Amino acid sequence: VSTAALRVGIDIGGTKILATAIDGDDQIVASVRAATPLGGEAVVAAAHAAVEELRGQLRGRPLASVGLGIPGQVDHDLGTVAHAVNLGIGEAVAIGPALAARTGLPVGVENDVNAAALGAAALLRPGRPADLAYLSVGTGVAAGLILDGRLRRGSHRVSGEIGHLRVAPDGPRCECGLIGCLEAVASGAAIARQWPGTDGQSPAEQLFAAAADGDPAAIELRDTVAGHLADAVVLLAVTVDPELVVLGGGVAEVGLPLLAAVRRSLVARADRSPFRRSLELADRTVLVPTGISAGILGAALVAPPAPSVEPEAVA
Ligand SMILES: [Zn+2]
Repeated sequence: VSTAALRVGIDIGGTKILATAIDGDDQIVASVRAATPLGGEAVVAAAHAAVEELRGQLRGRPLASVGLGIPGQVDHDLGTVAHAVNLGIGEAVAIGPALAARTGLPVGVENDVNAAALGAAALLRPGRPADLAYLSVGTGVAAGLILDGRLRRGSHRVSGEIGHLRVAPDGPRCECGLIGCLEAVASGAAIARQWPGTDGQSPAEQLFAAAADGDPAAIELRDTVAGHLADAVVLLAVTVDPELVVLGGGVAEVGLPLLAAVRRSLVARADRSPFRRSLELADRTVLVPTGISAGILGAALVAPPAPSVEPEAVA
C-alpha cells in the first residue's frame, strides 16, 4: 500500500458536493458525497466535513492539498468566490483561506468549468500540454480554455463565459436579464423547459431518444439546440483556435447522439465555405471522456495559489 500524499478534489455543485482523494496516477482512492448547503459559511463547513470524512476513510494517509471547483466568479489568487447564485453567495467569500485554516492544508479554488477543463485536459492529453476549449453544457453554458497548456482565466475572470452571448434575438429572456442568450436556448435548463419529459432519464436524453424514434418535434428541437452548440464551437474555434473543442456537462451525458448532431450542424454550416471546411471542426469536436469525472479530477488538479513574494525578498 502506497503512503504517498494524496490530492483532494472537491466539486461543489448546485445540489451536491463530491469530494475525492486522488493518487499520483489520477486514480480515486476515497470519495464522499453530501448535499450542498446554502451560504458561504455553510459551504466552507460542508467542504471541511468532507475532508475530515476522507481522512477517516484513509486512516491517516497524508493529504497534500485540496482543490475546489465551484460555480461563480472565482479569484484564484485570493481564493474567493462571488456571484454563485445557486449557492446563496453574492459578495466575495474567502472560501480558500477559510478551508485552509480549518484543514491545515493548502487550498486552491477554481471556477467549476475551468476545473473541469483542467480535468478534461489531463484525461485527453495525459503527460503533455493540452490546447483545448471545454464547452460545458449543463444547467448553464460556459467554456473553460486551456491554451498552450495553461488555463486562461481572463483579466476579469470571466474568460469563456459565452453562455450570455445573444444568439436568438426572438428567444426567451435569460436569467441574466438579457434576451436570447445561448444559455437560454441551448442549455440543459433550456431543453428541460421545452422538452420536460417524464421522471427517470434527463430531459436531454429523452429528447434525443424521441428524435431517434422519428418524433418531428423532437428532431426540430434537437437540431435547433445542436445548431446553437455548433455555433458556439465555431465561436471558440475562430477566437482561440484550440486543437480540440470538448463537449462536457450534464447534457453531454447524452453521448454520441449529441456529438453526432453537433458534428452534422458543423458540416452543414461549412457547406458553402472552403475556409470553414478547411478548419475540420467536426473532427476537432469530441466528447469529454467518461469514467472519472473531469470536474472531480480537475478540482484535485487545481493548484493552491503561489505564495505572494515579499518586496524585501525581491530586493
Ligand atoms: Zn444570459
